[in-house]
Amino acid sequence: MLRATPAALRSACVLVTGATAGIGKATATMYAQRATAESPVSLIVTGRRANLLDSLCEDLMSYPHCKAAVPLAVDVSDKSAMFSAIENLPDSVKNIDVLVNNAGLALGTSPIHEGSVDDWETMVDVNCKGLLYATKAVLPGMVERGEGHVVNIGSVAGTYNLPGGNVYCATKAFVNHLSTAMRADLIGVGVKVTSIEPGNTETEFSVVRFKGDEDKAKKVYEATNGPRVACGGEDIAKIVYFATDELPKHVNVNRLEVMPERQGFGPFAFNRE
Ligand code: NDP
Repeated sequence: MLRATPAALRSACVLVTGATAGIGKATATMYAQRATAESPVSLIVTGRRANLLDSLCEDLMSYPHCKAAVPLAVDVSDKSAMFSAIENLPDSVKNIDVLVNNAGLALGTSPIHEGSVDDWETMVDVNCKGLLYATKAVLPGMVERGEGHVVNIGSVAGTYNLPGGNVYCATKAFVNHLSTAMRADLIGVGVKVTSIEPGNTETEFSVVRFKGDEDKAKKVYEATNGPRVACGGEDIAKIVYFATDELPKHVNVNRLEVMPERQGFGPFAFNRE
């Protein structure tokens, strides 16, 4: 006998870290676009660039069912600033239904023995520690209310190593693995956890990785013919939204790996000299 499937719970309050660009910006926009009169949304958006947050909030508020858009200009790796920003949110947006831990970056392409310790520290601070701070600030409230969803943006780089990716790959392996570890702690609590693990996605990611070299960054997303070799931020946003708002309450997407059709896997590398 088929059981009746309870409808998905529409998210009323969503916090997206790293929403000034790329995947985060597209994700915040997706929730605003898809909100309805019956299910309006309030968004909290974070990032360091206050001016971009302000213009994003203006855009978000232009969608008819976006009830509130709150900018939090804060460095996700600044522990006390993160905790105090989230603690001091207005009461109207304190009960966060969805936390999208998206803020992150790769820096440099050097092999491990030539890497910059400063770059390594920044990647660990933002990709790992920043994600933990946001989670610690938001998750206890979800557990107390018995519902919520944490979406961590991991990466295919956390599963498949790429030359010059070393510390970035390791930080994303942390994110991918932490997500399933969180699931282990939260079974039956009503709080879902999803790791979305994108491949090549056209955002500001490569400009940041190549430290402002826009020409080099452009090449990562170039195709001489045919379809794009990169997903768009909005493609990943659709998947985040699908995981949180389009599935029944009892269904949890644990991990979802996604690549452009034109990206794939290489053979094992050998050095036979
Ligand atoms: P973008 O560079 O376009 O966006 C990154 C976002 O993170 C920006 O909003 C940036 O905001 C924010 N951010 C970076 N550092 C900090 C910080 N210290 N404090 C607060 N916010 C910060 O890149 P993507 O959209 O591509 O990246 C989003 C996530 O997706 C990252 O975790 C990345 O690792 C992951 N990812 C990306 C892939 C890709 O190919 N693009 C592939 C797989 C995963 P601001 O600068 O204003 O602080």
